[in-house]
Amino acid sequence: MKGQVLALSGGVGGAKLVLGLARILDADDLVVIANTGDDFRHLGFDISPDVDTLLYTLAGLADPLQGWGRHDETWNFMAALERLGGETWFRLGDADLAMHVERTRRIAAGETLTAITDDLRQRLGVTARIAPMTDDMVRTQIVTDAGRLDFQTYFVRRHCKPVASCLQYLGAESATPSPVLLDALSDAHLRAVVICPSNPYLSIEPILAMPAVRKALALCSAPVIAVSPIIGNQAVKGPTAKLMKELGQEVSSATIARHYRGLIDALVVDVQDAQMAAPADIELVVEPTLMLTLEDRERLARAVLVAADRMSATPKRASVR
Ligand code: GDP
Repeated sequence: MKGQVLALSGGVGGAKLVLGLARILDADDLVVIANTGDDFRHLGFDISPDVDTLLYTLAGLADPLQGWGRHDETWNFMAALERLGGETWFRLGDADLAMHVERTRRIAAGETLTAITDDLRQRLGVTARIAPMTDDMVRTQIVTDAGRLDFQTYFVRRHCKPVASCLQYLGAESATPSPVLLDALSDAHLRAVVICPSNPYLSIEPILAMPAVRKALALCSAPVIAVSPIIGNQAVKGPTAKLMKELGQEVSSATIARHYRGLIDALVVDVQDAQMAAPADIELVVEPTLMLTLEDRERLARAVLVAADRMSATPKRASVR
């Protein structure tokens, strides 16, 4: 089946599936929207961690062990900064730093993050389109027992240790989604919207918190299919499970189904969760969802598209949302 696939993604977990999609789709058929709720200004630089994780992953430059940054990175800048007594809690490798220097220069010169990201991905040889969710400022904040924390302070500086009670997406209400996102959603030939197995609260919700995105998703003609980031009663990595517990939710794919209810037509869950109960209006697709190898990523991407294409052929789904 032809038509574009729109993927909504955070960083590492989302980028795994995005890589699978990129490997099985023609370049023109994949549009990836990155969360920018994690973006921040640090040491004078405009840093977009999820955009960069996606760029590095699709360019084959990502560090597979660390899970962030670039492989074969050197750390001279950090070492020199440390010696001078500078702030080193957020690690910036030398090659990674070039990305932030260049992005910051171009933002200061008046370019949009959408335009800059599109140019940088082409320079890195990434053929699929990658765009930030918005060119406006949206900032995820976590209200915790240690006070209200900016995302990177919570995630990197405080190692997600504070206990969260609520999340807020400052600026999302009034943010204009990237034209790349709105154009894809209004495309009559859109094949599928894929919500990647990213952290639903920290990576996907900032995108969905923009009212225009929810509206466009509700109107879009393509099936919307999410992949659960939970396998059994655990997250594969990161603070997703810890956050779910702190927000009073059971750690399970059933919670993910309830969370996305009204937005999605189908949820892909792991074989471990085959017996779970799902709301009647969400079709469950059962597949191995742990992506360890490149083949795992491609196989899951293929399964997601097969499910989406099957749903497109079912007239009933149009009335669900
Ligand atoms: P971050 O922005 O780097 O935190 O990355 P994301 O939000 O995109 O992804 C984090 C989520 O990815 C976590 O909830 C993990 O459970 C999930 N995740 C990571 N690897 C996998 C995997 O192989 N399979 C599935 N189903 N989920 C994964």
